[in-house]
Amino acid sequence: MNNTILIATQNPGKVREMQALLSTLNLEVRSARDSNLDLSIEETGDTYLENAKLKAMAYCTASGLPALADDSGLEVDALNGAPGLYSARYAPQQGATDADRRTYLLEQLAGETQPWNAHFHCAAVLALPDGTWVETSGRCDGIIIPEERGDGGFGYDPIYYLPEYSQTMAEIPETLKNTISHRARAIQAMIPLIEQKIGLK
Ligand code: IMP
Repeated sequence: MNNTILIATQNPGKVREMQALLSTLNLEVRSARDSNLDLSIEETGDTYLENAKLKAMAYCTASGLPALADDSGLEVDALNGAPGLYSARYAPQQGATDADRRTYLLEQLAGETQPWNAHFHCAAVLALPDGTWVETSGRCDGIIIPEERGDGGFGYDPIYYLPEYSQTMAEIPETLKNTISHRARAIQAMIPLIEQKIGLK
């Protein structure tokens, strides 16, 4: 297999999801770790798209390979769209974990009327060695619940309830998350662009 794409993230949960999503393509899907690349990129953009572009372009430049990045966030209606762009850094303490961020989110929601409607948004960017790039986006709607359920996924998944499935994003099988999540939708929309840009078709 000659064609290779680099997944521009250090997050093993995202790597696993993206490798599964792209597994039908005649493509070697390489993680940044496989390539010994650990770039710490400051997410200084004002939008998900700008941040995804920063990551994709940096990894593409460093590796010489087409690089696929996403930038996602959780937007909670009762918090006027927070944590949004700051979802990965949403907890005051240094070295906060995903569990700390879930606890902090629930603290912010205490006293707000339920249901706590929310959605995940994802922007995906494929950066190409010729300096061009293409973008897609995806969205997944759900409800924040006050107690954790399930041990799959990552991030806010254990408190992200999907009414349609009566389960949280951490309870549904990974194969289902890979069909309905914000990232799944953005990456599925990217597949024809990958085929076109990398010359798979
Ligand atoms: P990133 O900037 O795209 O890496 O994502 C920002 C943050 O959003 C992550 O650190 C997670 O906390 C959260 N997030 C993104 N995607 C998901 C998901 O699929 N499930 C749960 N949390 C997610």
